[in-house]
Amino acid sequence: MEERVIGVNVSTIATTHLNYINGQWVRSLNEKVEASINPANKNEIVGYIQKSTKDDLDNAVKSAYQAKKSWKKIGQAERGQFLFKVANILEENLNDIAETMTREMGKTLPEAKGETARGVAILRYYAGEGMRKDGDVIPSSDKDALMFTKRTPVGVVGVITPWNFPVAIPIWKIAPALVYGNTVVFKPATEAAVTAAKVVDCFAKAGVPKGVLNFITGSGSVIGQQLIDHSFLDAITFTGSEGVGQVVANSAASRGIKFQLEMGGKNPVIVTKDADLDQAVEAVISGGFRSTGQKCTASSRVIIENQIYDTFIEKLVQATKKITVGDGLKEGIWMGPCASENQFNNVREYIELGKEEGATLIVGGETLSGEEYSKGFYITPTIFGNVKPEMRIAQEEIFGPVITLLRASDLTEAIEIANNTKYGLSASIFTSNISSLLEFIDEIDAGLVRINAESAGVELQAPFGGMKSSSSGSREQGETAKEFYTAIKTVFIKGN
Ligand code: NAP
Ligand code: MG
Repeated sequence: MEERVIGVNVSTIATTHLNYINGQWVRSLNEKVEASINPANKNEIVGYIQKSTKDDLDNAVKSAYQAKKSWKKIGQAERGQFLFKVANILEENLNDIAETMTREMGKTLPEAKGETARGVAILRYYAGEGMRKDGDVIPSSDKDALMFTKRTPVGVVGVITPWNFPVAIPIWKIAPALVYGNTVVFKPATEAAVTAAKVVDCFAKAGVPKGVLNFITGSGSVIGQQLIDHSFLDAITFTGSEGVGQVVANSAASRGIKFQLEMGGKNPVIVTKDADLDQAVEAVISGGFRSTGQKCTASSRVIIENQIYDTFIEKLVQATKKITVGDGLKEGIWMGPCASENQFNNVREYIELGKEEGATLIVGGETLSGEEYSKGFYITPTIFGNVKPEMRIAQEEIFGPVITLLRASDLTEAIEIANNTKYGLSASIFTSNISSLLEFIDEIDAGLVRINAESAGVELQAPFGGMKSSSSGSREQGETAKEFYTAIKTVFIKGN
């Protein structure tokens, strides 16, 4: 899967990770490579990835196209068996892959291990799908006939993923795609492509037949764009920003192929006057700052009822000050750096914007420097108070360790504020009042509705996805994944 080369401009030896096409790790026709940098230490190159060409991409898609028929014929049960093997191999390599993830995009090692373990569980879940039903019998109005549905694969699926969950997101797309009989071309986020290459290697080692899973690296605007525009593609599944999601949707819609988009969020947490404030504080800290706030389900707006506003802030600030920031590989570190220089700069710009817009910077907002920090992209956990719903920091996804606090006079106003963005991914409420939680479940515009729990929790066996601009409307994970990765044939058989 890899070749040793001497890194450009550095004295260290780093590995170049190749493309995986038609069952082989192959060099790109382009010799240029790109360094993947450790955001905790920008002098460390985690590995190199190839800047692939249009011809490489063409080879990858053709290979998936050629494998389509035979993979479908293998049958669902046997396809599931392959996923069990992949799960075992991923589990054996959990520590190495998790460490690579931490080095490559900065989340702490315990979080990276948790995510990789989740990848293992997702693989086992979809491996089990191999033995579950692929259709329903429906009574026909003709008593002599048998009518049933049968699921059939969609074909060649393009998979494009972001850098923030470099193991779980690729797996929650690739595993169902494969078990339901599709072949895949996977283009990972450039920022996390080394981790992705290691995940693909688990599929390779499990003996998944050639052409069934193809992996190609390169920039989104070149390789990603060529992938979504490729005429052999039957479906495309994308997770990432809203802007790129639009591009994917336009391309897919213009050719009439299936597409699925999961995009940003500006997830609200409502804290009512009857909430358990300690429980709410813990959840807001976890939802807002874990993974350095770089989760699509991160808690980024906390809407607090007037009566408890000051008490809640006091507790929240106390807890925030205890957060340890540093290299996620080190023990005792709770929050790592921003995943890249680009993210770091974006977050800093939003912090400046918040001040300009007139919000009160209550805590954090600093860039850490000094010996331990100057090599990394560190920002302290940041909380803005007195935020108005129309401010850009309350409307736009920051994707960093920044929480905004807003006031509401009652639950109705709180829900109104919560719904007042273009996003609708996840939302939570802290309350002990049954009427309040019932109203929240009914009125909130979010695909994930969480009561007395942080906004950033996802279970692999349940549907996942958002409303409004957060999603194209379809759902991932659990049984619902089937809806995207299969088409239904309604079969009618009449005896003679
Ligand atoms: P991004 O910039 O949109 O990139 C996502 C992927 O699209 C990357 O693989 C990227 O490649 C590729 N890409 C870029 N331009 C493309 C084009 N023109 N055609 C095809 N592909 C293209 O997003 P990101 O910065 O990686 O991730 C952060 C975003 O993901 C946030 O908005 C976050 O909310 C969202 N997210 C959503 C969910 C969810 O399930 N709702 C989960 C996680 C993250 P390169 O890396 O090479 O640019
Ligand atoms: Mg990196």
